[in-house]
Amino acid sequence: MPNEDDRLAALADLHVTEGGPEATFDRIARIGCAALRFPTAHITLISRDLRIAKNHDPSSSDEIPRNQSICNFTIQGYEPLVIPDTLLDERVRDFAAVKKSHGIRAYWGMPLTTRRGYNLGAFCVLDTVPRHPTQADIEVLRDLARLTVECMELRAQARVDVLTGAASRRALYDEGGRLFNRLSDEDRMGCILLDIDHFKLINDNLGHAKGDDVLRDLAVLIHSDLRNDTPFGRIGGEEFVILLQNEGLAGAYAVAERLRRLLEATRVAGLQITASFGVSERLPGDASLADVLARADEQAYEAKRAGRNCTRPVLLVEG
Ligand code: GH3
Ligand code: MG
Ligand code: MG
Repeated sequence: MPNEDDRLAALADLHVTEGGPEATFDRIARIGCAALRFPTAHITLISRDLRIAKNHDPSSSDEIPRNQSICNFTIQGYEPLVIPDTLLDERVRDFAAVKKSHGIRAYWGMPLTTRRGYNLGAFCVLDTVPRHPTQADIEVLRDLARLTVECMELRAQARVDVLTGAASRRALYDEGGRLFNRLSDEDRMGCILLDIDHFKLINDNLGHAKGDDVLRDLAVLIHSDLRNDTPFGRIGGEEFVILLQNEGLAGAYAVAERLRRLLEATRVAGLQITASFGVSERLPGDASLADVLARADEQAYEAKRAGRNCTRPVLLVEG
């Protein structure tokens, strides 16, 4: 088996442990229950210490200790792990989920193996009575596990903008939405929207490939200035968004101005380019991240109207 640190890195790269159970995985789990005639199916991920559920099951916790999870055995190999009767298996018979009334009596699981051979977790079905699979059942289990991993891998690809390496629009909205929903009344969130000035001229005069180089180099420049965990995404052709946790409007303005000056002072793909910046912050009445983004977008438009290469709204920053 691959080394555990490499396995955990592969798991982290896919960004699936965040966000809790999801409807997509509920669907795959339901198909598994129907196809195999089981009352319960779980799609699980095994992190360093936890077994994390990716489908909803009100009768079980979303997270349990790794050493209380049967799936932790499933990920030790590449073949299905079939336990027809958990009370006869000394590895698992003392687990809380087995011992409780109407606990797990039959477990059939298949590891979720990535293309590179890392086991992320398992697809498994659970029953409260002993069950033996047929060969056809095992094939269904294999197919559903493969389908689950393929879904996770495709989603991971969609998270990254291929041209620039920034987060995709969807990934930025997802992550930003999660951060927004976690904010308490006192927490702050700042937002910067930047739009390259006269970008169309670069395409028209120097070609689309040069335009692509500018987008790529600009993203590298911005990445180099931000902390690694700062959400930064390309939300449109030549529009980028940065979300700042624990920063209000003044903090967002300061970062925007710093980036604007950095851009002024740096040649990007061999060219001198500028951008217009709009900043905003989460306000008490905001229902979702979209409200914060909409204000930053309006302000970026104001920056264009004011002549470009500037940040709006203008704030007087002390010091
Ligand atoms: P403004 O200063 O008002 O923002 O002007 P602009 O020319 O930057 O803005 P406009 O919206 O008129 O043009 C944006 C251009 O970006 C048009 C579109 O063809 C180009 N574009 C969008 N996506 C890509 C891409 O992935 N690569 C390249 N090279 N160009 C792109
Ligand atoms: Mg634009
Ligand atoms: Mg533009």
